[in-house]
Amino acid sequence: MTFNFAPMPDDKGYFGEYGGQIIPPELKAIMDDINDAYEKVKTTPEFLQELAELNADYTGRPSPIYHAKRLSDKIGGAQIFLKREDLNHTGAHKINHCLGEALLAKYMGKTRVLAETGAGQHGVALATACALVGIECEIHMGVIDIEKEHPNVTKMKILGCKLVPVTRGTQTLKDAVDSAFEEYLKDPVNSLYAIGSVVGPHPFPKMVRDFQSIVGREAREQFLAKHGKLPDIITACVGGGSNAIGLFTAFLNDDGVKIVGVEPAGKGLNTNQHAATLTLGSKGAIHGFECYTLQDDKGNPLPVYSIASGLDYPGVGPQHCYLKDIKRVEYETADDEECLDAFMTLSRLEGIIPALESAHAVAYAMKQAATMSKDQTILINLSGRGDKDADFVANKLGL
Ligand SMILES: *Cc1c(COP(=O)(O)O)cnc(C)c1O
Repeated sequence: MTFNFAPMPDDKGYFGEYGGQIIPPELKAIMDDINDAYEKVKTTPEFLQELAELNADYTGRPSPIYHAKRLSDKIGGAQIFLKREDLNHTGAHKINHCLGEALLAKYMGKTRVLAETGAGQHGVALATACALVGIECEIHMGVIDIEKEHPNVTKMKILGCKLVPVTRGTQTLKDAVDSAFEEYLKDPVNSLYAIGSVVGPHPFPKMVRDFQSIVGREAREQFLAKHGKLPDIITACVGGGSNAIGLFTAFLNDDGVKIVGVEPAGKGLNTNQHAATLTLGSKGAIHGFECYTLQDDKGNPLPVYSIASGLDYPGVGPQHCYLKDIKRVEYETADDEECLDAFMTLSRLEGIIPALESAHAVAYAMKQAATMSKDQTILINLSGRGDKDADFVANKLGL
């Protein structure tokens, strides 16, 4: 089968039947404004050059691709490669879209940027980008996540952002989104809502994807230059789906490349403590867009869980839903135990402590590599580093 992707989404923000704008009419005008501004800056040389310079000199792009030889040898199958987004300034891929969003806010003349955060990675990346650009920043975060992700909370305070603890509902990511969005609606003219993944109403899934797609463009070029061929498999963890779509986009038309997204199976797919939205969800709507969701029979989001705070979201980016349906991307899962095992294995064999989120993709790659031959290759998007998770894991494993 040959895939040839037309530019997506369509002008209503749909990827097949997913995405769009499930929002009140007054909000639609605001989203359309953001879309118009984005479409304009996308072809503005000053904007593109400012972003390119920041990517290079501030974030440290391009991030390298590293051959994890000891890990590959230990498994005895396919060669495993890591796209080192963990080496970016702030330690994860999120800086890629935060710089884009903060710059867009500046070009639109906004005075404040607002957002939610789960693991605190988006909050830190956005607070960083706002400090750099010189715009006020307000971050909403569930109190459970605040407890768990203390170092990121401290960093956000140092970076000068206003941190709003969210005590309602699940006290995690889902309710942080609701809380931040309500605040945004009080003054959408002077604020920009900077969504932390490829989710939310159009144009956010498109915009965040475009800002993240630098990951795959670099990776494809780097891999080809070094190996004269593309990887057999590329893989990334999927929460909202931004690091995954960032890697996948450049490879979608490469028929020979198998693409795999990895969702968190938490304590097991047969428990209600997971966040495997594409694997077990059904079509619904959440936070202003249509996608697979984990929902009850009334369409309300179910509580979700992952050992990695950045993955516990009951919806998922609309483009992933489309790519699943047309079978261009396969979605697999890794549970908490496999994630912890991958976390420790990568740390001890390669001296690379991955984020718990990224460790889900490493876990899948370890399983899959074992079934492949030594001349085959798997490229993992190592979306972030694990400093933020080190104490949590050490306590959990009694180290
Ligand atoms: C936030 C985060 C994720 C999950 O977000 P996506 O939008 O699914 O990429 C994955 N890895 C790290 C390191 C994160 O901080």
